[in-house]
Amino acid sequence: LKINKETALSTYNAEKSQAIERRYLLQKELMHALDRREFLLYYQPQYDTRNREITGIEVLLRWNHPTLGIISPAEFIPIAEETGLIIEIGKWSMKEACRQLRSWQESKCPHLNLSMNLSVKQFYQPDLVSMVSSVLEENRIVPDHFELEFTESLSMHNSDSFLKTIKDLKAIKIGLSIDDFGTGYSSLSYLTQLPLDKIKIDRSFVQKMLSSKQDEIVIKSIIGLAENLGLQMIAEGVECEKQAEFLVKHGCYHMQGFHFSRPLPEDQMTQMLNSHYIS
Ligand code: C2E
Ligand code: CA
Ligand code: CA
Ligand code: CA
Repeated sequence: LKINKETALSTYNAEKSQAIERRYLLQKELMHALDRREFLLYYQPQYDTRNREITGIEVLLRWNHPTLGIISPAEFIPIAEETGLIIEIGKWSMKEACRQLRSWQESKCPHLNLSMNLSVKQFYQPDLVSMVSSVLEENRIVPDHFELEFTESLSMHNSDSFLKTIKDLKAIKIGLSIDDFGTGYSSLSYLTQLPLDKIKIDRSFVQKMLSSKQDEIVIKSIIGLAENLGLQMIAEGVECEKQAEFLVKHGCYHMQGFHFSRPLPEDQMTQMLNSHYIS
């Protein structure tokens, strides 16, 4: 097979300019998405496999654009971060999610927990803590029922303002989880410095753990680490019974993933809660 350099290059350039164009379009459209009420929240239940109870719900943002369709947060969150729009979008999501949590707590599940993803950019907002606490207060939500998930980034490690924000969030008794654990810049000393409550074992480990001895060792080590540090843990991206069994065998009982439920729109989540016993 002869590779034609010129064709390859022009294909590459065409793809690249298409990607740039798409990004530009999304950036432009994202500026109006809040005003046009194009965002919605999906909810994915988290389970305790020991009693099959729903212990919490993770909030996942969706952008439903009238002509482009549903756009994945993996695509638009980075753009929202770059443009700074993430601050307003994050605020909107938090208000919306807390309003929803309040309604679920009042109707059926007084002890339901909700967890939300927080972008690094939001950590550097000086009014983050006061914003969060006022949204919780407005909805009369006890902070122990509210959790924030964040992924590690290198910039956090040497930042005093990040550390202060984390401590202030802890001071008002909000749960703090490290998301995608094992994929970031995790340094163990750093783990012990932060007032963390939980680690979320990244989906990539869950997906690989049954296929190789090495990945089995990695997952066992993460579980051991969480146990030794006295942290709660939850595995994400659990897609089959085999994975669930394996995790239970090694001492990880909390899980979320397609095997239990996909992320659901509000009405379906409500239905599920109505038909489910919650402690
Ligand atoms: P994440 O926080 O790691 O969220 C988990 C992602 O895995 C979600 O994708 C979820 O739909 C998907 N997932 C859940 N169970 C399974 C499974 O069993 N198998 C597989 N293959 N996937 C599963 P989603 O909703 O597309 O979100 C992607 C990422 O976008 C999230 O990753 C999070 O980093 C970010 N994100 C979502 N909502 C928000 C938000 O409100 N704020 C911020 N800052 N980021 C968000
Ligand atoms: Ca998450
Ligand atoms: Ca995750
Ligand atoms: Ca992720």
